[in-house]
Amino acid sequence: MSLTVFESINDVRSWVQGTKAHGATVGFVPTMGALHRGHISLIERAKEQCEKVVVSIFVNPTQFNNPEDLKKYPRHLEQDSAMLEAAGCDVLFHPSVLEMYPKPGQKKHWDFGPVSNTLEGEFRPGHFDGVLTIVQKLFEAVEPDMAFFGEKDFQQLTLIKKMTIKEKLPVEVVACPSIRESTGLAMSSRNMRLSKEEYQNAHAISRTLFFMKENQSLYTPDELQNKGQQILASSQGVQMEYLRIVDSETFLPLREWNVDVKPVVLIAAFVGDVRLIDNIIL
Ligand code: AMP
Repeated sequence: MSLTVFESINDVRSWVQGTKAHGATVGFVPTMGALHRGHISLIERAKEQCEKVVVSIFVNPTQFNNPEDLKKYPRHLEQDSAMLEAAGCDVLFHPSVLEMYPKPGQKKHWDFGPVSNTLEGEFRPGHFDGVLTIVQKLFEAVEPDMAFFGEKDFQQLTLIKKMTIKEKLPVEVVACPSIRESTGLAMSSRNMRLSKEEYQNAHAISRTLFFMKENQSLYTPDELQNKGQQILASSQGVQMEYLRIVDSETFLPLREWNVDVKPVVLIAAFVGDVRLIDNIIL
């Protein structure tokens, strides 16, 4: 089967409605394109759990708080389409900005306390409102049964689950594990913007996360967080924005290890002018 491409909400919605009317389930994988194996793993998971799979490629302007970052975001539609076809994706939804935002700048606001206000919420003001706005619009356009998101964007995934419940959207949100290079580096479309040297330097992020996971039992949460910050801050070519250990449900800081709380370490760092994020569950 070849890949069908839709650019309008009406077209994708009527295809999905027709597919569901024949009794098939539809899985959805929203992306911003510049696809890599991380994205493909979500498509594979969607194919395991659903009969048909829709992938969207839309570089969402409302989630970029830095206009330069939006301008430089990699766009590889031809290569992406070939990868989608090879992965067995049924439909590519590739709308224009005007299709998704008939009124410019239209962005809703959600407040989920520390889950939306800390870390990415703190360092990229307005970012999550943009993400949740587009995810709601995409869910309403596509009307999938299930949608698949990566733990690579752990805070985003947590917020999407919360928004979906709050807005009563009839979509099951499925979390998928982070896919890494064999060297440990988390795959990201942004890695494509790194020079050879920066690419090597970026490995300090995953190395720090793995160190923290392996040595958790030796330290209190505060000590481990300090240790991780020291390692990352002293790594060559890496500028740490944050490294924090929080409760993976509330995003509140942890005073002590507790069997009832699953801690997560979240990192944001610049390598050259490329901002990377990664995380690990302890
Ligand atoms: P993006 O195109 O960066 O907006 O990502 C689209 C989806 O792919 C999101 O759900 C991401 O969390 C997910 N994703 C990105 N990188 C990875 C990765 N390395 N492993 C698993 N999922 C990923």
